[in-house]
Amino acid sequence: MSPHPYRCTCFIISSKMLRVLADEATDEHERCVLLDQAELSAHLRGQRSVAQPTTAFGITTTGEKRRTVYDAKNKATLPGKLVRGEGAKPSADVAVNQAYDGAGATYDFLFEVLKRNSIDDKGVRLDSTVHYQKKFNNAFWNGQQMVYGDGDGKLFLGFTGAIDVIAHELTHGLTQNAVPGGLVYDDQSGALNESISDVFGSMVKQWKLKQSSAQADWLIGAGIMGPTVGKALRSMADPGNKELTWSGDDQPKTMAGYIEDGDVHTNSGIPNHAFYVACMALKGNSWDKAGPIWYKSLALLTSNATFADMAKATMQSAELLYGAGSTEQQAVRDAWTKVGVI
Ligand SMILES: [Zn+2]
Repeated sequence: MSPHPYRCTCFIISSKMLRVLADEATDEHERCVLLDQAELSAHLRGQRSVAQPTTAFGITTTGEKRRTVYDAKNKATLPGKLVRGEGAKPSADVAVNQAYDGAGATYDFLFEVLKRNSIDDKGVRLDSTVHYQKKFNNAFWNGQQMVYGDGDGKLFLGFTGAIDVIAHELTHGLTQNAVPGGLVYDDQSGALNESISDVFGSMVKQWKLKQSSAQADWLIGAGIMGPTVGKALRSMADPGNKELTWSGDDQPKTMAGYIEDGDVHTNSGIPNHAFYVACMALKGNSWDKAGPIWYKSLALLTSNATFADMAKATMQSAELLYGAGSTEQQAVRDAWTKVGVI
């Protein structure tokens, strides 16, 4: 076994989506740029196994929030120039403040709701780099920090514009620490890795907006897409509903639509929907019961966990939190049954 837990380079936009958009592009230059970016995403993702341990991280004392935002100044060198540290005045640059505030909301959510001190539970510093490359149509977690592109301004707007995208990326850091050995970013364990990021991303957004499960829109990435592309990347309430998201949304909602060898951003629709169904059955806020159940289940998973393993782990953690045969445990079982995993 590797001495360091599995770390992914995890993108919010799949290479597949970039290729679909390239196919639809009427402008040749735009098409080439999108294909280049799809290739770059695939290339960076391939580097995951050589990502270095988090030596750049400074450890803060318990309960202390520490954020650092860097500016790559449209270059590819990370982390870039330090532009805002913890407690520093807001910047004149909107992206810097969005990255800072989004990381803060995620930290606060973990600390206040789940009693977790940052993504590693040891108060690790949260580093973000904005303005990565030129017109870069993606955001990613590279195993050590978050990286945000500005988007080309047409298909994608700045990637710091949606708090759920920020929390999604940071949750990849949570997963690599909370799941023993991390979750391998391929097949079902990869789709689970993506789903856990959507689950926490959506919860942080709902918590910040004080929205109950019934009030929430359950969309991921609303606000980062240009109107010609669509409204959001994914819907947890109704995966694959192109009206709610975008024209190429091929997420299955249940195992009946499971795509063999599908992209990790595709099959994640199934566990995403299970979380939504559990939240709706449990009523109230997503973070009251379903959130803690999902969070507690992470420690019960292994690196190659399947959807069935996640179903088992969440039922087990519901039992640990609420008791065997509790309505909470039943709601979780029903949710996984509804999406066809059990
Ligand atoms: Zn992701």
